[in-house]
Amino acid sequence: MVEKIHSQIYPLDIWLEPAHITFRAYLIKDGKNTMIDTGPPLGSPEKLAAVLKPYDLALKDVNFVLNTHGHFDHVGGNAFLKESGNPQIMIHREDAIFLEDHQSCFDRYFAPVTKASNPQEDLAKAREAFRQEMGPELKVDRRLEDNDLLPIGDSIELQVIHLPGHTLGSVGYYWEKEGMIFTGDSICGLSSPDGSLPIIYDLEAYKQSVKRLKEIPLGMLIGCHPYRGMNLPPSIIKKGSEVKRFLEDSLEVAERITEAAAALKNEREKPLPEVVDKLIAKLPANMDFKPLAQLMMPQFTLTTVYNALYRNEDY
Ligand SMILES: [Zn+2]
Ligand SMILES: [Zn+2]
Repeated sequence: MVEKIHSQIYPLDIWLEPAHITFRAYLIKDGKNTMIDTGPPLGSPEKLAAVLKPYDLALKDVNFVLNTHGHFDHVGGNAFLKESGNPQIMIHREDAIFLEDHQSCFDRYFAPVTKASNPQEDLAKAREAFRQEMGPELKVDRRLEDNDLLPIGDSIELQVIHLPGHTLGSVGYYWEKEGMIFTGDSICGLSSPDGSLPIIYDLEAYKQSVKRLKEIPLGMLIGCHPYRGMNLPPSIIKKGSEVKRFLEDSLEVAERITEAAAALKNEREKPLPEVVDKLIAKLPANMDFKPLAQLMMPQFTLTTVYNALYRNEDY
């Protein structure tokens, strides 16, 4: 069954088994074939091949890979596509490290929160697990910058909108003519329905990114996971009036987390898991975020709170 978003855009649903996360990449057909994100490395290349098959495409037929950011569930299939053909691999400059240098990427973005979450953790082992999760390293063909225009076929041109926050190199791919944007995880609303916080690496940048999108005419915001809003049920794509509400909710959550983190600044010496649960308790009850013990994937919440409290040393 082929669900259509637009006559040239097709959803590619890829189930992340170990993490129980629903993931969706996209195929754009416009004379050339473009993939927006490529799913996780686990199970690739067979899973990627299987989702392309209904469109009479093989891995070698993909011409452009536009990554929304560097997390494993989005870039994991890149290396298999590159091995099978010669797609042009693109990602924002700030997230290129996720593809090109897994050791530095782990040390910069994941080691600090891993250590703070559990001081006994064997970092070398955690780094190895990260490398496994990411799949093979590969060279980026084009490092994207804000406002780059990408002609990806006969008629479609996408504009890169840099939306840092979730990661520093998160972007949206904006199709102005149709009022559509592919946002990946750049805008997270209230995250997935399990009660984890949205993953936000840089809260201040995130708030600016949401505000920037509020100024852009948008009829459709196309994500990769089923994020919820305050009164919006979980869905991957937000349409019409949902777009504005989703952006407002995303901003609201980020503001409340910022406030709660500021109120806990004198408790930063305490163990991270303890501070995290205090912060969750300070957020509005109707946001329905859960304490760590109730989460299947506590690292999302740990990441956001760790960075809110300790990455910025200004307070
Ligand atoms: Zn992500
Ligand atoms: Zn993701």
